[in-house]
Amino acid sequence: MKDHPSQSIHSGLTCRDLTDRASEYLDGCLPILTKVRVGLHLASCTHCRAYVKQIDLVCTALRNLPKLYPSPVNRLRLRQQFAASHTN
Ligand SMILES: [Zn+2]
Repeated sequence: MKDHPSQSIHSGLTCRDLTDRASEYLDGCLPILTKVRVGLHLASCTHCRAYVKQIDLVCTALRNLPKLYPSPVNRLRLRQQFAASHTN
C-alpha cells in the first residue's frame, strides 16, 4: 500500500509542514535551517514541488495586480489631481 502524500516525510518535514510554509518559503521569510529542509523536501517530493510552483504563480500574479488596478490610495490621489486640474 502506498503512503498518502500528506503522511510521507522527507527531510524531517511532512508535506503538511511544507504546504504551511510554502508562501513564507517563496517570500524568503524562513530561517535558514527551515529553508534548507524545505529545499531538501522539495528535491525528493514531486507533490510539494508542484504545490510550491502553483503558489509561486499565484504570488507572482498577485504582485502584478497593483499595476493593473490602482490601489485605493492611488485612486484617491488621481481623483484629487483630476479635481485640482479642473477647478480653474
Ligand atoms: Zn512533500
